[in-house]
This record gives sequence, C-alpha cells and structure tokens, in this order.
Amino acid sequence: MIDTTQFGAREVPVADKQALVNDVFRSVARRYDVMNDLMSFGLHRAWKDALVAAVNPPKVRPFALLDIAGGTGDVAFRMLGAGGEGTRATVCDINADMLAVGRERASAAGLGEKATFAEGNAEALPFADRSFDAATIAFGIRNVPRIEVALAEAFRVLKIGARFVCLEFSAVDVPGLRTLYEFYSFKVIPPLGRAVVGDAESYQYLVESIRHFPKPQEFAAMMRAAGFARVSHQLMTGGIVALHSGWRL
Ligand code: SAM
Repeated sequence: MIDTTQFGAREVPVADKQALVNDVFRSVARRYDVMNDLMSFGLHRAWKDALVAAVNPPKVRPFALLDIAGGTGDVAFRMLGAGGEGTRATVCDINADMLAVGRERASAAGLGEKATFAEGNAEALPFADRSFDAATIAFGIRNVPRIEVALAEAFRVLKIGARFVCLEFSAVDVPGLRTLYEFYSFKVIPPLGRAVVGDAESYQYLVESIRHFPKPQEFAAMMRAAGFARVSHQLMTGGIVALHSGWRL
C-alpha cells in the first residue's frame, strides 16, 4: 500500500507531494509578498507581528532564531527588527526561488550577517541538535508532506528551554464570517492569483490546503507527540489563523 496525503483537495502519494508544492512556490516566488498583502488586505502583517510578540526576541542578549519554511524572509526580518543587536535569524526553506527573493530583500535592507539563508527541508533540518533559542514556522507546515517529522525536527534543533511557535491558517468559527471567507477563498483568491501572478492553480492549491490542515486541537496533540510541553494555541481573526506554541523543556 502506498502512503498518501493531501495536496490541496487531491490525495497524492506522500513521495509526490513535495515536488508539487515546490512547483507552486517556484511559480509564485517573485510576486509572493505582494500577493500576501493583496489576499489578506495586509492582515498577514498583524498575524506575523503576533508571532513575533509571542517569541519576544530579547533586546540585550544573543538570540538565535530559526524560521522554518521562511520563504522570502518576512518573519525573520520582523524578528530582527524587534530583537536587540545580538539577534540572528536563519531562514530555512526548501525552495531556492523563495530564498533568492529573501536574500535580495535582506541585502536591500542592509542586514549583513544578521540574516542567513539555508536551503533545507523541514523534515531533515540541516542544523545540529540544540542549536536555536527559538524556532518558528509561518504558513509553512501545511505544505510539508510529513508534519509529524517536521515537528520532531523543530524539537531536535531547539535548545532546552526554547520555544517553538507556529502560525497557520485554521478553521473559521464565526458562522457569518465562514460563508464570506469560503466565498472569498474559492471565488476571489484564485482569479486574483491569475491576475497578479498569472497562476490561478497555485492559489487554488493554497486555499484547498488550508481546508485539509488539522484542526487546532489535533495539531496541538501532534505537537505534544513530538515532545513539546506547555502546548497552547490562540485563534485570531475569527479563527482564520491560529498561533500554536510549545516548549522544549
Ligand atoms: N513563512 C513565509 C511567510 O510566512 O511569508 C513563507 C510561507 S509560504 C506560504 C510556504 C513556504 O514553505 C514556501 O516558501 C515553501 O517553499 C516552504 N516549504 C514547503 N515545503 C517545505 C519543506 N518541506 N521544508 C522547508 N520549506 C518548505
């Protein structure tokens, strides 16, 4: 029996999912950030700021952050802005095109060695055990074929006493908002993707993948199974996104 998983609404062999996901982000990389602003009416900025506030990078001591599936560096740059001189951010992503945009952004912002970029798979992070003071993943984990493997990897690379925070789309729990959100997701976002990026299919995948991601309680159980302690989550914007947190103790 072949192991399968969801690629958006389609069930595909686990071994095939990553290549399909990589095609999506190769296609959208150049216009990824502008599409985020358009699709979310800028709300992704507030959601990412909540993630940064949860991590709360310190002002006065060295702090090594790993941003997994960090794409074009958006979360890492916000962390560097919030932390002190000793804050360093490593952006790890499997997609060279997303990282290339991130490197350009870091260089334009004059971040120097504060931001580093590593091509790597969340399921096999190219870092030593217990290397980081915090690890984050924003809108990335639902794209990873084996979520439980990625969670175990995030746990492995964290120092004892360090925190993992995951920002991901969730399930809208406000009835009127749900109807509006479903309409917007399926009827507006793919055509917007066609108009702005020239690719409706990738955005169809993105909205479908949100529907198939585990519900918050289920994801919390997966985090506990990976070893995280003091696991908690907080819904934002009527449940459109959830901020999950756990500690390596
Ligand atoms: N975190 C960034 C942000 O919030 O702007 C980017 C999120 S983007 C929706 C998802 C990212 O996950 C893409 O950059 C993609 O290349 C990356 N990704 C998908 N599968 C991955 C994997 N197995 N390991 C590492 N990164 C992965």
